[in-house]
Amino acid sequence: MNNTGQHIEIWDQCLEIFKKNIAPQAFKTWFLPVKPVKFHNSVLTIQVPNKFFFEWLEEHYVAVIKAAITKVIGISARLEYNILVNQQNPQQNPNSSANTDYSTKESQTIPNPFVIPGLKRVKIDSQLNPLYTFENFIEGECNKFPRSAGVSIVNKPGGTAFNPMIIFGDVGLGKTHLAQAIGNDVVKNSESKQVLYVTTEKFTNQVIQAIKSNALNDFMNFYQMIDVLIVDDIHFLANRPKTQEIFFNIFNQLHQSGKQIILTSDRAPKDLTDVDNRLISRFKWGLIADIKTPDFDTRRHILEQKAKKEGLELTQEIKDYICHHIKNNIRELEGVVISIVAQSTLNKRIVDMKLVKDIIKQFVSQVDKEISVENIKQLVAKYFELPIEKLHGKTRLREVVIARQLSMYLAKTYTNSSLKVIGDSFGGRDHSTVLYSLKAVQDMMDTDLLFKDTVTALEKKLELTLQG
Ligand code: ADP
Ligand code: MG
Repeated sequence: MNNTGQHIEIWDQCLEIFKKNIAPQAFKTWFLPVKPVKFHNSVLTIQVPNKFFFEWLEEHYVAVIKAAITKVIGISARLEYNILVNQQNPQQNPNSSANTDYSTKESQTIPNPFVIPGLKRVKIDSQLNPLYTFENFIEGECNKFPRSAGVSIVNKPGGTAFNPMIIFGDVGLGKTHLAQAIGNDVVKNSESKQVLYVTTEKFTNQVIQAIKSNALNDFMNFYQMIDVLIVDDIHFLANRPKTQEIFFNIFNQLHQSGKQIILTSDRAPKDLTDVDNRLISRFKWGLIADIKTPDFDTRRHILEQKAKKEGLELTQEIKDYICHHIKNNIRELEGVVISIVAQSTLNKRIVDMKLVKDIIKQFVSQVDKEISVENIKQLVAKYFELPIEKLHGKTRLREVVIARQLSMYLAKTYTNSSLKVIGDSFGGRDHSTVLYSLKAVQDMMDTDLLFKDTVTALEKKLELTLQG
């Protein structure tokens, strides 16, 4: 029953809470004019002067109102609004109906206000990072396929066979970047599309929150409004059955209504452990595309882009060195660039090979125990079918000279040895000879494709050694 006075008591307690949480002026403007009308079956009805007032409260204060009534009434609390129709001077509106009075007319009761009403009208904040675009997502063999699938989605969200699209791959390879680039382009292309990016972590927290505050329905309703839903790192769904269940429902509803779903994961769906099979089978409906580790050229391309962005100029030798050592993670490539910039500007260090090697050491733990000059000599000698001693000796035979110079070049790239140490290990040659050899190799690579292929082949072998 409607307990006389109870609604007033409840609202008074709520006002106390609002007062503490809302700036005095806003409190006065938006809360004092509100009148409690009744309280029945956990539903508190309040009266607001007009529709605009109602919308304003809902758009700006929904969280605090909800928190307050839940605190005062309990978890089952609900709120309803009565909106006074035309409270303004009746003379201004002679044609208005009998409702033009000041009494508590239930002229327009709006149920379930926690379906945040602004949402239907207001564009959802996509939560996208505008820096993740297609323009700065360098294409390589490693990401060609997911990238072009992404472009098709932009042109027709929800309307391609790529639904859901699952981007998977190791950490730092660009999954988040690509997923967000798709989202950003959709936003750019079609103003009206509601795009939402959410991490699985955040989604999980939202689910927990919604359950706690008994607002699961509203939560689901909110997600149903999305046209392109991007959920990042779905491997974190593992061992979260409730989140999986809710996600399953949202997934089905969106998919059925032709909305686009984009997911990222650090592994292929079939390898997701502790995720419900129902979900995994849904994931297989669309496109599963992996981003692989970038090859050398793509790494260099990305490195050049990142360096350019930071206004950093790097020599070819330095770029090669970095890309030879940072292979499996683009985020680390960025990290190296940032570190170089920091060291050169803050610590005023010259950007030379020594600095770069110092920095790389922090990123790659095995730099020190990697390939030795000796390993390189063995590899090159074997490749050219020469006895290793020839590399130390004085022979000026062209073939031997080339093998020797190439060994020095690789030693410089793949080891931490100084020019002097390298010279020493090639029969006591001095550092200028080594320097000359490096230059000679570079020149030959630039002019002789066959030679360049040889170098690439040897580099591949060294990379394999590094990985093994
Ligand atoms: P993941 O989500 O796979 O762990 P991210 O998308 O966060 O990886 O990428 C790591 C970093 O590398 C980001 O700063 C991203 O901008 C950058 N990156 C990844 N792939 C590329 C690429 N192809 N071109 C340019 N930058 C990239
Ligand atoms: Mg990511």
